[in-house]
Order: sequence, then C-alpha cells, then structure tokens
Amino acid sequence: MGKQRSRRARLTRELAREQKWKCYYCEQRMAKDLQEANNVLSRVSTTEKTRRLAAAWRVVTYEHLKPVSKGGEVSEENGAAACAWCNGFRGKFDESVAKRLIMYLVGHNLHPHQTFIKTGLLVTPHPSIRGMIKIAEENLECK
Ligand SMILES: [Zn+2]
Repeated sequence: MGKQRSRRARLTRELAREQKWKCYYCEQRMAKDLQEANNVLSRVSTTEKTRRLAAAWRVVTYEHLKPVSKGGEVSEENGAAACAWCNGFRGKFDESVAKRLIMYLVGHNLHPHQTFIKTGLLVTPHPSIRGMIKIAEENLECK
C-alpha cells in the first residue's frame, strides 16, 4: 500500500515534469504541494478557508486516462498529471470529453482557477452540467 502510493507519487512528478507542470486538462500551472499552491494564491483577497480550498484544487494528482473502474492501471502509458480540480471534475467522463469541456471553461475564463484569481470566490460549474453534456454527447453519437 505505502509502496504503491510512493510509486504513484513518483510517476505523477515525472508526468508533471514532462508536461512542464501544466495540467493535462486545463493546461494551467499545477502546484507540487499545498504550500506551493498557497504561495501562488497568497495575494488573492479572500478568506483563509477559501484560499485553502482553492489551493488544494491546484495540487498535482495522478490521473488515470482509462479509469480504474474500466481496468485502468497506474502506469506511464495510462497516466497524466492533472490538477485536483480537473481530476475531480472529470468524474466518469471519457477523458476526451472532459478535455473539451474543461478547455471550453478555460476559453471563457470560467475555470475555477481563473475565477478564484479574479474574484477570491470559489465558482465551480454545477454538477448537473456534466449530465447535460453527457446527454448531448450521446445524441451526437447517434447521428
Ligand atoms: Zn486542471
């Protein structure tokens, strides 16, 4: 267990370096840990509690491109480095769908990293957006 976790941590750092510390999904700079993320956000005017959560969202995580639920493993081929927010937002989406959706948010300055810097608030798309997009995707595939 501990061994597995350290292997994953090492792989995550390697992937992050290869990606120049840009998140696989939002392409924004990831932090190696909470302290670094807090430093990056130290000048945003907000509450301490809000800053801590915004910082946690920026920390690098290991992303299974093929999810564990579909037999995806921790490996270089199946791995990408993603910020904690994008990793969580992806949910059960196919990674290519998640990528398009997240880049849409970034393109419109609606990604939570962007809105936090601007407003000091945590603004995150309503979870139902994922369900709506999934339905739209399925309809597209039928045509
Ligand atoms: Zn991201």
